[in-house]
Amino acid sequence: MPVPLFDLKDQNREIDAELKAAFERVLYSGQYIMGPEIEALEGELASFIGARFALGVSSGTDAILLALMSLGIGPGDEVICPTFTFFATAGCVARTGARPVFADSAPHAFNVDPADIERRITARTKAIIPVHLFGEMADMAAILEIAARRNIPVIEDAAQALGATVPEFSGSAGALGQFGAFSFFPTKNLGCLGDGGLLTTSDEQLAARARILRVHGMEPKYFHSHVGGNFRLDPLQAAFLRVKLSRYDEYTRKRRENAAYYLEKLGQLPGVYLSANDAPGEDAVILPAARVEKGPIWNQFTLRVRGKAGTADRRDALRAFLSERGIGSEIYYPMPLHTQECFASAGQVNEDFRNANALAREVLSIPIYPELSGEQKSEVVGAIAEFLGA
Ligand SMILES: *Cc1c(COP(=O)(O)O)cnc(C)c1O
Repeated sequence: MPVPLFDLKDQNREIDAELKAAFERVLYSGQYIMGPEIEALEGELASFIGARFALGVSSGTDAILLALMSLGIGPGDEVICPTFTFFATAGCVARTGARPVFADSAPHAFNVDPADIERRITARTKAIIPVHLFGEMADMAAILEIAARRNIPVIEDAAQALGATVPEFSGSAGALGQFGAFSFFPTKNLGCLGDGGLLTTSDEQLAARARILRVHGMEPKYFHSHVGGNFRLDPLQAAFLRVKLSRYDEYTRKRRENAAYYLEKLGQLPGVYLSANDAPGEDAVILPAARVEKGPIWNQFTLRVRGKAGTADRRDALRAFLSERGIGSEIYYPMPLHTQECFASAGQVNEDFRNANALAREVLSIPIYPELSGEQKSEVVGAIAEFLGA
């Protein structure tokens, strides 16, 4: 039985009638830009996340860009973000004319190292963008403390982490910094049928600024105090998202069940380690450090597959082995951003980001989507066991 990395059709088939009703509601409303669907979704998501304000926007990328623009960030400024993340985190910084300053991942984790963020702060640092990678929150207590001491705003890239929590905070991912940026790209945990995103903040002034910049910096109509963009979310996508949001807790519960299953079954295999702390430097498969009860929402379930030091051979061999058996997997992400051609001028290409470079050689994400069947999960575990000779 094939096990794709995700199956977007499956989820939509289950709620087919509700999605069609949402489509008809928008079709016959005559309101195709902004309006009540957007406002309803914004209200529902603001309370779900625990932020005062939420703005529907055109994508997760545009949410980050709009946050940076609302903070007035531009040429001459520096913004610190992880090097091990999706491109958009840093791409948006460069688009404002500011310089992305990359920080390493924390040892034994996927997320950014707060100590490395602190080392890279200068007088030009105008924001910090931690990313909650794979649905697990970055070390926000440490990052917020560092940022507060220097009075630097924090933009949480929560594109992969809607509803993720940690015990220290009452709000969820995206409610803790000055801004939270979310994506509704179809493979995110809450995905629309196209592109979409959300920007959250609990600061009234920042919310007002972002609201104006979302529509060309226009207020009132045809008067422009600032240069903004068209960063609007479509009401049709908002209507679809509201259908899925009503089932979101169930989707998360299923992802957590899948993660618990993998942690238990894979954890019993020889050569598999529960933590990078006790894994050898070579020939080890390491399970994610996130644990089910801690509040991650498992956008990805990501293994670290270690072979011979400094190579990706064993990870790539496992990926090919799974692929031959019809099991999907993906490498998020094969190249840290400091090594990307377009960021060569940022001047960090020769720096030694030890943890991020190791992650890029070792990571492999396996299917975790809510609709996975028991049979499919056991097939994934069986294939990995076979690869390990168990
Ligand atoms: C998906 C993603 C984005 C961008 O979201 P889009 O909606 O695709 O523009 C930004 N950052 C991270 C970490 C992401 O995973």
